[in-house]
Amino acid sequence: MSEKYTGIKFSVKLLSGNKELEKAKELLKWCNAFYKMGIASPEGKIAGNISCRTKRGFLITPSGQDFSRLTEKELVEVIEVSEKNQTVKAIGEMKPSSEAFLHAGIYGARKDVNAILHGHNSIVTKHAKEFGLVETIKEQPYGTIELKNEVLKVLGKNKLVQMKNHGFIAMGSSLEEAGRIAVALHKKALAWIERHGY
Ligand SMILES: [Zn+2]
Repeated sequence: MSEKYTGIKFSVKLLSGNKELEKAKELLKWCNAFYKMGIASPEGKIAGNISCRTKRGFLITPSGQDFSRLTEKELVEVIEVSEKNQTVKAIGEMKPSSEAFLHAGIYGARKDVNAILHGHNSIVTKHAKEFGLVETIKEQPYGTIELKNEVLKVLGKNKLVQMKNHGFIAMGSSLEEAGRIAVALHKKALAWIERHGY
């Protein structure tokens, strides 16, 4: 990642109430898998963010937390996002992932997508073209509306998109599908290292 992580870039209104946790265990399973695969920026513990669609919005990982020991309590259900006001309304105790706008934008554009996994893999970022990935044209700062708009420009019906100089987004009709896509990409990156080195 070319930009250091300094927290979320929108304001959050946390609402009280019960989160929809039907898929929480599965979501946490993928957080753990991501952690083990090391799909994180080399210098830090920020592994990316994972979400799945709920009836009211989407359940997402909190901002800036270690994926190895996340619990249901820390997950956040985003109910509403306002680009105009740069605000996010959510149920939970923690702030939602800095990429809440990105997730909201994809769910809005793609009715077939019910789960999104975003991770950072330096090999994939470096060799996106050789990997045959659809890539955004312009680099945009993380956590911004501009980044979300850049992704929507190339999204189409793709289930895997690389954000230029940043990280990948795997999407699926389920967490399982999106997860498998991310795992396959990770394996491809490992095979690349075997053949070509870094
Ligand atoms: Zn990222």
